[in-house]
Amino acid sequence: MSQSFPEQVPLFIEGQWVKSTTKQWIPVTDPATQNILTQVPCATDEEMARAIDSAVKTFETWKEVPVPVRARIMLKYQALLKDHHDEIATILAKETGKTFEDAKGDVWRGIEVVEHACNVASLQMGETVENVASAIDCYSYTQPLGVCVGITPFNFPAMIPLWMFPLAIACGNTFILKPSEQDPLTPTRLVELFEEAGAPKGVLQLVHGGKDQVDALLNHPQTRAISFVGSTAVGHHIYRTATDNLKRVQCMMGAKNHMVVMPDANKQQVINNLVGAGFGAAGQRCMAISVAVMVGESKQWIDELKQAASSIRPGAWDDPEAAYGPQINPAARDRVLSFIAQGKAEGASCVLDGSNCVVEGFPDGNWVGPTIFSDVNTEMEIYRNEIFGPVLLIITVDTLDQAMELINDNPNGNGTAIFTASGYAARKYQHGIEVGQIGINVPVPVPLPFFSFTGWRASFAGDQHAYGKQAVKFYTETKTITARWFEDDHQSDMNMTITLK
Ligand code: NAD
Repeated sequence: MSQSFPEQVPLFIEGQWVKSTTKQWIPVTDPATQNILTQVPCATDEEMARAIDSAVKTFETWKEVPVPVRARIMLKYQALLKDHHDEIATILAKETGKTFEDAKGDVWRGIEVVEHACNVASLQMGETVENVASAIDCYSYTQPLGVCVGITPFNFPAMIPLWMFPLAIACGNTFILKPSEQDPLTPTRLVELFEEAGAPKGVLQLVHGGKDQVDALLNHPQTRAISFVGSTAVGHHIYRTATDNLKRVQCMMGAKNHMVVMPDANKQQVINNLVGAGFGAAGQRCMAISVAVMVGESKQWIDELKQAASSIRPGAWDDPEAAYGPQINPAARDRVLSFIAQGKAEGASCVLDGSNCVVEGFPDGNWVGPTIFSDVNTEMEIYRNEIFGPVLLIITVDTLDQAMELINDNPNGNGTAIFTASGYAARKYQHGIEVGQIGINVPVPVPLPFFSFTGWRASFAGDQHAYGKQAVKFYTETKTITARWFEDDHQSDMNMTITLK
């Protein structure tokens, strides 16, 4: 057991750190060694009920707190997160296995959302129109909903919780976070710092567990809005259950992201960016590039791409030579390995095979080396599934139109990129491609928080996306007021119609 972490991860309910009374504990393991770092509880029914109750009660006072006061807590929180940036990144790297550099990026992209939440007063402004009828004015407010819930995945344990609770709370809601049971230490630290920033007790609760705990949140009559990020199958369950309970829901789900490589692109940029976007974070990013669609003569670059990918290797989080870390757990590693075996069996050409990856000093790590398949077609299982590992597929086509047709036929629509020197090709692509986030010579186009994270089609279910102005809409409800003030001696006739007079 590591000395630097608590033996058991506590819950945070009613502003108190409490030890769960559950009998069900899940070990959290270091993915490079399998050493147990800590244990995470599956919160009991009673603990879940207390967390929801606390959020319900606290909403009554928190929604009345003036907006500048809420914004100042976010400002303090942003400063604290920056002060503790490397410390959080270290915790994150240890429990996810991400390289330290990549872990810092995870924390930083979350801090940017907190910065955005500091602008809540401007973001939450309503609208006004004077004289909508004679001496009648109309104006709207955006008011908080109540108790909001966040259910988050393992792959960005800082950034994704920070996509959710700061904006929801800044808008005047209370929040219950149920992070991934695979890396709960980073969210725990985020919540500790939120408390330190001056958030009143009960505004944010941290609970742990799996399906049962999530279902308790989805089925409770007083949770109002559910934000989910994770796999497609779980997202469907969450969307269906929560909408059946008439809740507001946003689900950000699985992906298969294509990069179109035009023959006029800069070859070295293409190779460097494909290696980074395909294998970075061991392919465990929902915006990772998992398919390169090489148009025309760009297929000549496959050999050089292979050489570049062969020059990188995975390793432990604090190994400065490591390009990326392990898969999150042995089952995830085995799943990736079985896809590699399947790709070979279904006739794709395995240009680079990372199946037998060994990292010196870490015999038990969940390693997979960089893997490239060419001669892939869209019927293959390796194309039809999200592999979520360091496996890059290559499909060759003759024209940009063929590339676009292929990508639009794929059910997912999270992210895509085109590498080209042609403004015409880029414009045609951005306009016609049915994917919600597009990079033009940018391989992983995750929008900054003043925009929203706009995955499309099978990668998303809901109406309003994560962060940006859309999240403010998601976490608030509009109240519209139509007002007239009579002069003391005002006389008016009866109005038997709906027309404003
Ligand atoms: P996951 O779906 O297994 O878990 C996500 C969350 O759901 C966790 O908190 C987990 O405890 C909970 N959960 C798991 N099974 C459940 C069930 N049966 N019922 C209710 N809740 C359940 O996802 P993961 O493996 O942690 O994350 C990887 C997935 O997330 C990939 O598919 C990836 O593409 C996706 N992802 C999507 C985005 C996006 O923005 N579209 C971002 C990051 C990750």
